Formats: sequence, structure tokens, C-alpha cells
Amino acid sequence: MKIYAIKKSRIDKKGKGLYATKNIKKGTKIIDYVGKLITKKKSEDSSKYDNKKPIYLFTINKKYDLDGDFSWNIAGLINHSCDNNCDYEGKGLKIWVKAIRDIKKGEEFTCDYGFGFDKNYKQFICKCKSKNCCGYIVRAESRWRINKKFSMKNKKTNKLP
Ligand SMILES: [Zn+2]
Repeated sequence: MKIYAIKKSRIDKKGKGLYATKNIKKGTKIIDYVGKLITKKKSEDSSKYDNKKPIYLFTINKKYDLDGDFSWNIAGLINHSCDNNCDYEGKGLKIWVKAIRDIKKGEEFTCDYGFGFDKNYKQFICKCKSKNCCGYIVRAESRWRINKKFSMKNKKTNKLP
């Protein structure tokens, strides 16, 4: 049995989400993030990526990006949350989704989409309803730019701001 199931999302009311079908331990690999490798030149020239927000686009290396905007990329259904229980991880040309804490059966899997803060941030409203939701889909390290209370200064983190 797969450890995920596709159901209507609690976060994205119009869309779907992935849910845990059993209790999952921190560090467990949930699903591969699959797509097509495209050259950076193509992603930069294509109107599909015009808004510069890489919703389904991942940087693989200096030359290639991974475009996951395909119906067969089930991992693309995972929604963003300001209190995410999963994160993306990658090695070589592969990307997958990993649990970053213990997850209970029935919980919706969520990731941090990792969007930077820029002048267009308001077009991506976050509806995750978590206690620490900053209201927009912006990566954890940049949320203080929206509101100082999201400053990570006092939190343990090994990521650079
Ligand atoms: Zn949120």
C-alpha cells in the first residue's frame, strides 16, 4: 500500500492534496518529484515561466531545471504550508519529498514552496490556516519581510536568511 492518498485538499479548496495513509516517521521518503529536465535557457525564454515564480520549477544545477508541471507528477499536488511537515530534497538529477517531522495518519502532506520575497508576493495568498501563517506563500527565511513577528532570529535554524 502506498503511504499517500490523493484527496480533496483542506488548504487549496479548489484543488487536491496528498494525505498520509499511515503514521510516518520523520525522515521517511514520501514520493519522488518527477518531471522533465529542461535547460535554463528554455525556462528563461518560455512564457510558461513568465511570472518567474517557480511553482513547479526546480533548479537541478547550473544548466538544468526540472519542470514538474505534469498531471503524472503526483508530488505536484502537495500544497504549501507555513507549518510544513515535509520538504523537498534532491541529489544529482532527482528530487523527492521527505517528512521533516513525524506525521500522523490522515494528515495532509505540505511543503515550503520556497518562494523568495519580491514585489509580486501578494499574488500568492496562503490559506494553510496554521498558527504561524504569514498570509502569503513566501519561504520561511523571508517571512519577516512581511511581518517582523516571523523573524527567525530566535529560532534554531541551520539555513542562511
Ligand atoms: Zn500559510
